Amino acid sequence: MKYRSTRGGIESVSFKEAVMMGLASDGGLLVPETIPNVQPKLDQWAGLDYPALAAQVMLPFVGDINESVFTELVHRSYQSFDHPQVAPLVPVGDIKVLELFHGPTLAFKDIALQFLGEVFSHILAERNETLNILGATSGDTGSAAIAGVRGKPGIRIFVMFPEGRTSPIQERQMTTVLDDNVFNLSIDGSFDDCQNLLKSVFNDLPFKQELALGAVNSVNWARVLAQVVYYFWTWYQLGQPKRFDVSVPTGNFGNIFAGFVAKRMGLPLNRLVLATNENDILARFFDSGVYQRGAVHFTQSPAMDIQVASNFERYLFYQFSEDAKATAEFMQGFQANAEAKLKNPTGYFDWFVADAVSDDEALGSIADMYQHYQYLSDPHTAVGCFLANKYRDPDVPMVALATAHPAKFESAVEQALPETANTHPILSALTGLPTRKIPMLRDPEAVKGFIRQHCSS
Ligand SMILES: *Cc1c(COP(=O)(O)O)cnc(C)c1O
Repeated sequence: MKYRSTRGGIESVSFKEAVMMGLASDGGLLVPETIPNVQPKLDQWAGLDYPALAAQVMLPFVGDINESVFTELVHRSYQSFDHPQVAPLVPVGDIKVLELFHGPTLAFKDIALQFLGEVFSHILAERNETLNILGATSGDTGSAAIAGVRGKPGIRIFVMFPEGRTSPIQERQMTTVLDDNVFNLSIDGSFDDCQNLLKSVFNDLPFKQELALGAVNSVNWARVLAQVVYYFWTWYQLGQPKRFDVSVPTGNFGNIFAGFVAKRMGLPLNRLVLATNENDILARFFDSGVYQRGAVHFTQSPAMDIQVASNFERYLFYQFSEDAKATAEFMQGFQANAEAKLKNPTGYFDWFVADAVSDDEALGSIADMYQHYQYLSDPHTAVGCFLANKYRDPDVPMVALATAHPAKFESAVEQALPETANTHPILSALTGLPTRKIPMLRDPEAVKGFIRQHCSS
């Protein structure tokens, strides 16, 4: 399989090149030249376990890693999960919940980042190269990125987080990792400061090249690809129904875009329910066809506190019948005017049902599911479950994706259910462990100096 950019400036890059490139160098996103139709293979794949299914679903998109090596990479990616099914499907009242949080950091990002770490280290070993990853986190994604590459030869990771502004659990999940290749930089500033630092370091192109600096953000194609798998998995777990609906708590549009790809591949997925919190830019778009930036709201589901969804451009590319020029024009219009309008909101547009969920509704949903079905969910999952129940068609199975374990978001869960025990042994075990973090001024030169110093050895 070859990849090209949604803006038309890049063509014919291989899978491995696409993974190493991350963001396309013309400012667009990488997409496969074709999306294979796997419908004829669906019966054959029934009964495969999660890693075996994952290898089959992803292989048509690879091409430049041989099948047995790739299969081995995939198996290794899911060995770190603590559930034999990797992603179990659990009935909760009238809906089913697909638990994507059984990885090492208890968040669905592990599904993609454990795999990305394996793919990176395979490519680097083959090329005898090293990669230095720089990231910024408000707390939610840093630990999954770290867990994906800790201890891997040829990779170092530097994660900036705002000192004192992540939750204590989130900080512990990062700073208790003591591997030599992991550097937690606690920045004396806000998350915005961390993101600005990230931009200024990456904008220093000579520095970026000299130090082989890379990112692991959610636009990496390998991350999307790994997420396509569990839509197929869900269908088999449901017993291969004629059709099914899935509700997806959405921030950067990575998770739900993977569902879009699965449907394009021929999976009998019916509706994609796009669930946002009060940051409802995407809900408004799929209501009206108008993509209009708003102010960021801070909610109880912080991993979805996003206004401009980084993977959305991939959907637009297909919506515009794979016309790179139309995609680029829409995005440029949006950048210039903070608003852009879809002229013809039909076709793929109709695959989505979108709505926004308030904090009150999400916390109410946590309380409801617990009181009626003894099921404890995290606030992101609750956003999706709320809409799963709202839009459920009695004749079609409805699945809500669970994106984090509730114990990761104990204060929101406690607001919904004050007296309820909410722990996880992986998190409890972190209390009292030794930690390591490096205090850092919010100064790009200080960050660059630190990176240079720790990359020369
Ligand atoms: C990242 C994340 C999301 C949002 O997923 P996107 O792919 O960005 O849409 C939802 N819930 C949790 C817990 C997350 O970490």
